[in-house]
Amino acid sequence: MSSDCLFCKIASGALSTEFLLETDHVVAFHDLNPVAPTHILVIPKKHIASLADVQVQDRELMGEIMLAIRDLAKNQALDEGFRVVANTGTDGGQSVFHLHFHLLGGRSLQWPPG
Ligand code: 5GP
Ligand code: ZN
Repeated sequence: MSSDCLFCKIASGALSTEFLLETDHVVAFHDLNPVAPTHILVIPKKHIASLADVQVQDRELMGEIMLAIRDLAKNQALDEGFRVVANTGTDGGQSVFHLHFHLLGGRSLQWPPG
């Protein structure tokens, strides 16, 4: 855990965040500023700064995150579809440097993004 990382604090339970899903390695919670009717953040408990920092030994963890997203989409009844986004680095618009996947759904989403 990185002591000055917001999402490490959330993952550790220090901020009393409601978890929509929790496994040994992954948690999911509502985004503070939702941009869609469903806007969930899915993160590893382990501190990884971004997708660019994922290591080969994280591949099982990455698979677990994807399966968590699949389960959340089902539980949230996103039957018409959804979008998964991992903003990465400056050009990617990343603002919190702990790896996270946005799960967006509940409305028709436009493409391309801005
Ligand atoms: P990024 O811009 O790095 O892709 O996404 C960071 C996301 O974290 C943003 O959508 C922002 O609304 C969300 N966020 C920032 N601070 C908090 C917080 O304290 N709690 C929650 N639940 N979400 C947060
Ligand atoms: Zn962290």
